[in-house]
Amino acid sequence: MKNIPVIMTIFGGSGDLAHRKLYPALFNLYEQDLIKDNFAVIGTARRPWSHDYLREQVMDAVHENNKEVDENHLKQFASHFYYQSHDVTNTEHYQAIKDLANDLDSRYSAQGNRIFYMAMAPRFFGTIATHINDQKLIGSGFNRIVVEKPFGRDLASASELNEEIKASFNENSVYRIDHYLGKEMIQNILPMRLSNPLIKNIWSGEYIKNIQVTLAENLGVEARGGYYETSGALRDMVQNHIFQIITLLAMGEPTALTSEAIHAKKQELLDSMVIPSADEIKTAFVRAQYAGTDDTFGYLQEPNVAPDSKTETFAAGKVKFTKGSLANVPIYFRTGKKLREKKNRIDIVLKHMNNLYGQAHSNNITIIIDPKSEIYFTINGKRISEPGIRRENLAYEFSDYENSLVPDGYERLLHDVFVGDQTNFTHWSELAKFWEFIDAVEDAWQGENKTIDKLIQYPQGKLGPKQASEIFETPTERWIYE
Ligand code: NAD
Repeated sequence: MKNIPVIMTIFGGSGDLAHRKLYPALFNLYEQDLIKDNFAVIGTARRPWSHDYLREQVMDAVHENNKEVDENHLKQFASHFYYQSHDVTNTEHYQAIKDLANDLDSRYSAQGNRIFYMAMAPRFFGTIATHINDQKLIGSGFNRIVVEKPFGRDLASASELNEEIKASFNENSVYRIDHYLGKEMIQNILPMRLSNPLIKNIWSGEYIKNIQVTLAENLGVEARGGYYETSGALRDMVQNHIFQIITLLAMGEPTALTSEAIHAKKQELLDSMVIPSADEIKTAFVRAQYAGTDDTFGYLQEPNVAPDSKTETFAAGKVKFTKGSLANVPIYFRTGKKLREKKNRIDIVLKHMNNLYGQAHSNNITIIIDPKSEIYFTINGKRISEPGIRRENLAYEFSDYENSLVPDGYERLLHDVFVGDQTNFTHWSELAKFWEFIDAVEDAWQGENKTIDKLIQYPQGKLGPKQASEIFETPTERWIYE
């Protein structure tokens, strides 16, 4: 599909996300002719910018991202951008956006199609959605809304926001972004699982002992302490990215590779997601904050963080389902800041099998998501000159060339919004289930009847607190990545 006619409004056009991710991604889509002559973008923000100033910003953003750019193309591309200053609560500003969009629609023959991108602080999402409805910003063609994370901070606030959005957009027009779903190795989970008999046939509790998902960051909260204080590791990483990864690992085989069929299978699985009891949360979940050192701040000393903050920068826990091929198989997760290195990985740990050769090592399938794309199997083989078993890796790592072909997650997901493909976005019913789970954990951690009072401090540069190694169901389990 090429040259999609549309007027796109980016709320938060002067922000970090628009600059670093959205403008470069839109340029790449323009270079692929997905958007060409019949599109225009309205950037909105509080500052009194001109159209020309926004265009300069857009060109700077593309330059910062691409080494080789055809300057004529870039100028042509930037000429499609228009600026409208905007304060979220000012009704007149929505009227101005609407008039500009209608004007641009005639000029670019955009056929009444509209995309609204919420690239602003989440507290504004509901107000913007309500004004889009009240001030009738909806066009006569397709209308789609892209909503950044976090979508709510618990089930109640997410439901409220969803109602506000539903006033103008039905579920098929809502694109809840989870940029992990745009990552190469995450999009590779289903093809890898389902297209190889070796993997497909062992994907069950008969062979899989447990699965481990690790999303480790080496950075701290940096300048984002203010935002992080309203969130924490559980809401920032588990509620969305980790739960989507786990869903892709445990869902059944869809009947077709369509958005409907894939979301139907996800939902079937999530209907059987076990919401943990307070006792389980006590034994199988860990929350912690990074401690300071002589040279570096701990979380509590970071700018815009309350000195007595209870916000966790590390979370570990366990997810189980009662249905599907992985029914009752524990899926452990952990995520945190200021850990040893940036590493996003999935380890599928196979059960020990009695065999004639005695004690074999555990066999695993590992998927490295970041910082590079890699898959490896650990397998057992004979030792060369002595009895016993040795362990080997069968590895497949993307070449530099393959890596250069991988588009940024935002480019992929924006492409999908333009063509109307919701496969890699979060449906409301999935999100509601994820929040139900998170609410149960938050309640046990911080609610009125909290059962777990203590927030652990963990040293920087390691893989989190030692208590994260005590969440396993049996003594024979341990983190494969340590
Ligand atoms: P930002 O603070 O850099 O930008 C916020 C934008 O909102 C600016 O354009 C600002 O002018 C505008 N704004 C603020 N108050 C306003 C008001 N009262 N009226 C009108 N406009 C106003 O934020 P960001 O980092 O770009 O993040 C935007 C969204 O994207 C957030 O939901 C964030 O969670 C999400 N997100 C960002 C990143 C990232 O890399 N920056 C990554 C993932 C998700």
